[in-house]
Parts: sequence; C-alpha cells; structure tokens
Amino acid sequence: MSKRYAKSIAAHAIAKRLMPGGVNSPVRAYQAVGRLPITMASGSGCTVTDVDGNAYIDYVGSFGPLIAGHAVDEVIAAINKAARHGTSFGMPTELETQLAQAVVGAVPGIDVVRFVNSGTEATMSAMRVARGATGRSKIVKAIGGYHGHSDALLVQAGSGATTLGSPSSPGVPEAIARTTLLVPYNDLSAVEQLIAEQGDDIAAVLIEPIAGNMGCVPPADGYLEGLRKVCDGSGVLLIFDEVMTGFRVAYGGAQALYHVKPDLTALGKVVGGGLPCAAYGGRDDLMRRVAPDGPIYQAGTLSGNPLAMAAGLATLELLQGDEAYAQLEQTSAHLAAGLEKAAADAKVGITVGRVGSMLTPFFTDTPVTDYAGATACDTEAFGRFFCAMLDAGVVLPPSQFEAWFVSLAHTDEAIEATIAAAAKAFKVVAKSA
Ligand SMILES: *Cc1c(COP(=O)(O)O)cnc(C)c1O
Repeated sequence: MSKRYAKSIAAHAIAKRLMPGGVNSPVRAYQAVGRLPITMASGSGCTVTDVDGNAYIDYVGSFGPLIAGHAVDEVIAAINKAARHGTSFGMPTELETQLAQAVVGAVPGIDVVRFVNSGTEATMSAMRVARGATGRSKIVKAIGGYHGHSDALLVQAGSGATTLGSPSSPGVPEAIARTTLLVPYNDLSAVEQLIAEQGDDIAAVLIEPIAGNMGCVPPADGYLEGLRKVCDGSGVLLIFDEVMTGFRVAYGGAQALYHVKPDLTALGKVVGGGLPCAAYGGRDDLMRRVAPDGPIYQAGTLSGNPLAMAAGLATLELLQGDEAYAQLEQTSAHLAAGLEKAAADAKVGITVGRVGSMLTPFFTDTPVTDYAGATACDTEAFGRFFCAMLDAGVVLPPSQFEAWFVSLAHTDEAIEATIAAAAKAFKVVAKSA
C-alpha cells in the first residue's frame, strides 16, 4: 500500500509541517476514514490522477462545483480568454453583469444578486441582510446543517464539523452562539413552536432546502412549503442556502424543483465553475438595502472576479436546456441502484439518499431524515468502504456525512466500473463486520 501512495505520503509529510493537518480545509486530511490523504496532480473529465500516477474515478467533484467535470475545454477556454484581458480590476466588468443576468434568470427567488468569493461569505451576508431588514437578531438553523464557517452558523454544524466531532468551535463567542436557534432537520413543528415563542426576535430561518452536509437528506413532503407558510405568518425571512443545490439539482436550484420561493438565497460551488465565486440574492426590496443602494455593508476586493465570472458563465452554458439535468438524473439513478444492489448482494445494509446528482449511501437499514439518523450510521463501515474504493481507483468524499457528486463527464462505463468496485468493497465491509 505505502508503495502505491509513496509520493502522496512524502508530499503530506512536508505539507503537515507547514499547514494545519497539511490541508487548507479539514475534511481533506482524511481523518474520518483513518488514512493519509492523497495529493492530486491533475484532473480530466470524471477522473483525477494523484502524484504517484494513480488514476481515480472522482465523486468529490471539488465538493460540488465541478458539475461539468475536471478541466472541461469550454471552461478552460473561458478562463484563458478572461485572463488574457486582466485578472482583476477593482472596477466593474461586463462579465459580472452577464453572470448576474444568468443567475437572476435562473433562480426564482433572486431579483437582485451580489457576488462574493465563498459560500461562507454568501450565507453570512444573507444573514446580515435578514437581520438588517427585520431589526431582529436570531437565526434558526438545522442541527447538522452546514452554512460555512462564520461564527453564528458554526453551531451544531454538519460537514467537517460533524466528522471532526467539533460541532461548536472554540473561538465562537457565547453571545453570538446564543443568537442561533437549533431545530432538527425535517421537523416543521419544531420551527413552528420556536417562531410561536420567539418570533419577534427571529430574523430568519436559514436552511439547506436539501440537506447535503449530513450526507444527502431530501426534504420531507411539505417541509419547505410549511417553512414558507410559518415564515409568511410571522415576518420571519426564509433563506435557502443553495450553495450546494443551486444549479446542481435543477438549473433554478432546489427552489425551482420544489416550487418554494425563499426571500433570500445563497449560492456557491457550481455558480463559479470551479473558481472561487459565490453569491447571495433575493427580493428586490431586501437586496436594495445592501450598500451602496442601502445601509447594510458588505464588500470584497476580488468579488465578481473576471476569471471566476467567466468560469461560472461557461459552466452554466453547459447546463442550459433539459438535456444536461436529464443526463445527470439518469447516470445518478444508475449509480444509486447499482450501489443498492451491490450492498444487498454482500448483505450490507445501506440506504441511499439522493436528489439528482447528489447522493449519499448511508450505512444503515433505516431511511435517514435528519442529523440524528445520519450520525447513527456505521461510520467505521463507511471508512472501510472508502479505503477499499480508493485502492480500487474510485475516490469518494472522505466522510459518511458528505454528498457524492456525479458530473456530466461521468459516462455509463465509469458508473459501471464504480458499481463493480463497490461490489468488491461491500464484500470487504461484510467480511470485517
Ligand atoms: C459548501 C457549503 C457552504 C460553504 O461554502 P464555502 O465556499 O466552502 O465557504 C455553505 N453552505 C452549504 C450548503 C455548502 O454546501
């Protein structure tokens, strides 16, 4: 094993001395699956290649942005063209208006948009608009919901914070954590009760319309509609964090898929086509309160960066029409069905949570509807599965509490090869159980 990964192991040893965990985002250190991270050299289509020359079919997809695949010609050409004209100006460019037009045209709840550089900034800024507009300070979020690493939202958060067992981080002041109210995901009555009791202090319900950071957990029937209704009755704003789901589950995001329109929306990941870019937007009257139209301050030196705008535009171009999403649905359904059958054949209990091209095989027999259900899964079995898949040439997000991402570059042959690898990996899991 160590020979196959020799260069990755050496690279990690150096990186570890220079950066916490040798990484720039905690999940990448592979702690949840109990092995050393592999270091990447290149990506192309649905495959990535590490510094030792091992190739893998990739379901990380940079944790969501790469819906078209790695190093896609159209995206690279757009980035190159933009770069030749200058990489940043601190003055407006037409590319920003073009991507704004695409976003406003696509996402039902966005009349006006502001670009930022990360999903963290997008949710943090949307929350500021909600607080500024309502004059209220409290925010309701789901236990296990991840909205980036800003102070108020890093309370009982999912994703890496779940995996690392540090749901509330040191460094988040108590006073700020107290402004965050927690509810179990998919529990509408919990939100109704909170709003009945403290509605006058609550600025917004901030929710992933499809939970993606406790693994992929779809909303229960009527959940999103119910949130819309209770917010409407109480002056509480509804914010959808569509950083993962925007342009992923449908061109207009989860709000288009489920026909529920939030007051504010956070976008990220796909909208930047693999470059650092995110956005928040919403109702005209709310977004006009953002500086310089209004008094709510938010700014960014590299916001609306031309390279990121170009990559986002080129990626959205590839998603236009129904064809792209039909293909993603077909390949993802194929993968989910194949995983379920392979697990059943090996007598390993799994339940696949999936919406379109985001999915998570949970190592449990019980359908997962919330964070308690997700964390009840057999994470050690997932770890063994992950390692067996990696050794077989398939790289997965390194935690039970992450979604896998299928891209337009995943061919039926790649899916078949993944299912064949999974059939063997489930047998490894069954044997060591
Ligand atoms: C990834 C993610 C974020 C954070 O985005 P970053 O670009 O990593 O800061 C926020 N919300 C959701 C739902 C996400 O999936």
